[in-house]
Amino acid sequence: VEGTSHSVMGSEDKLLGGLLATGFDEDFCTSRYGSVSYRKASGHKPSPYLVSRLRAYEALHKRCGPNTEPYNRAVEYLRSDDGSPKQFMGCKYVVWISFSGLGNRILTLASTFLYALLTNRVLLVDPGVDMADLFCEPFPNASWFLPLDFPLKDQFHGFDQNSGHCYGKMLKENSPDVMNKMNPPSFLYLHLVHNYDDQDKLFFCEDEQSFLKEVPWLIVKSDNYFIPSLFLIPLFEEELNNLFPEIETVFHFLGQYLFHPTNPVWGLVKRYYHAYLSGFDEKMGIQIRVFDTGTGPFQHVLDQILACTGRENLLPSVDRGRSILPNSYSHKSKVVLVTSLSSGYSEHIRDLYWENPTTTGEVVSVFQPSHEEHQQTEKQMHNQKAWSEMYLLSLMDTLVTSSWSTFGYVAQGLGGLRPWILYKPENRTAPDPPCQRAMSMEPCFHAPPFYDCKAKRGIDTGELVPHVRHCEDMSWGLKLI
Ligand code: GDP
Repeated sequence: VEGTSHSVMGSEDKLLGGLLATGFDEDFCTSRYGSVSYRKASGHKPSPYLVSRLRAYEALHKRCGPNTEPYNRAVEYLRSDDGSPKQFMGCKYVVWISFSGLGNRILTLASTFLYALLTNRVLLVDPGVDMADLFCEPFPNASWFLPLDFPLKDQFHGFDQNSGHCYGKMLKENSPDVMNKMNPPSFLYLHLVHNYDDQDKLFFCEDEQSFLKEVPWLIVKSDNYFIPSLFLIPLFEEELNNLFPEIETVFHFLGQYLFHPTNPVWGLVKRYYHAYLSGFDEKMGIQIRVFDTGTGPFQHVLDQILACTGRENLLPSVDRGRSILPNSYSHKSKVVLVTSLSSGYSEHIRDLYWENPTTTGEVVSVFQPSHEEHQQTEKQMHNQKAWSEMYLLSLMDTLVTSSWSTFGYVAQGLGGLRPWILYKPENRTAPDPPCQRAMSMEPCFHAPPFYDCKAKRGIDTGELVPHVRHCEDMSWGLKLI
């Protein structure tokens, strides 16, 4: 159920139903408690169990986090692994490596956090070049950032399937018998990047999870939203059902819990919102991500967007004869927020509604915050803008998104919105139908394993349980519904 009313400044539930902890310095991160006044009430409430597990996690993080005694001991063990298993005062860790585009990073970080919750590990975040510029600290009284002197830090970039400590490689080189007798190493690298192989994918099997359980440090590199496959591991089933009785809210809540724009990014969001988006009767977002080569804008993409918004009654049609306005004129106003690397699409849509009257009399305004032309990595303002645009999209009432794009997934998930997804064009032609309403607001896992861990053979993991299905926009992907 999507929201029905905007909350009124001041009277809203700034802790989002207990999802957010109290005790933060509000000035340091004004978006944390301030974002609620920009969003429609989503109608979804976090389960009391999720709330209690988050508070317990925060306590664990504070006890085991950077620069605590357990942390120092565990790091010491990494430096001088003497081969003997140790307990580390009840603290084990999962380290997330900063990797890939911003949308991908947000999704993998949420996935890794859920894995940490399920396995009672402490999540530590490689700050990369810009994580601290983009996101506030999500846990009270303890940092989620990995200290700069972390011993393996210099190796993060080079970790891949052939690294000595790669778990998949270990499984390739050792028989199950040998693995069973092996002492757990001080750390393992988990390669969960889209190009991973069958052994890397055994991460998603229960037997392997019991081996991993004993390893104090897990280091994860991923560019995928791997949560759907966690739902297929029997070990986690009950806990996941308790955490998320409403399955399609997994990223919605994890995202709202973890990702708070820093003050500079929040400034971008707020200024844009007040200058261009507030005061309209309806707000709609169109997220355009074109994976074709060559420079846009492309006519077939524009045709597809207009075919979708027309067919689904998302935007009024125009009267190209420009006839005289009827008396029964509606003065409803609609604002369209377009995000795209290229400016051509929004210019065209804007002109269409300037040059022609709408048949309903509605007034349509079209704005696009930036047009960065091409994807850039690791440039501060570029990613701050990208993050602010994902966030602005999440504040809209309805969304049209592009297939395959994690940028759009983040927006729909944070906003609690079930978007209309534009099908991926083939051979530069607009598909028919042009778009489809998503089954749920969840992101799609683009590279899931298709393996039956018990029977040890291939299986269609999109057909096993009703709430893990193939995605609308990628037939081999998996999503929660
Ligand atoms: P995905 O490639 O669509 O799955 O999304 P990612 O966020 O992982 O990577 C795309 C990157 O391209 C973003 O992080 C931005 O840096 C940039 N980008 C793509 N679309 C847009 C857009 O509409 N606006 C802005 N500002 N940047 C974009």
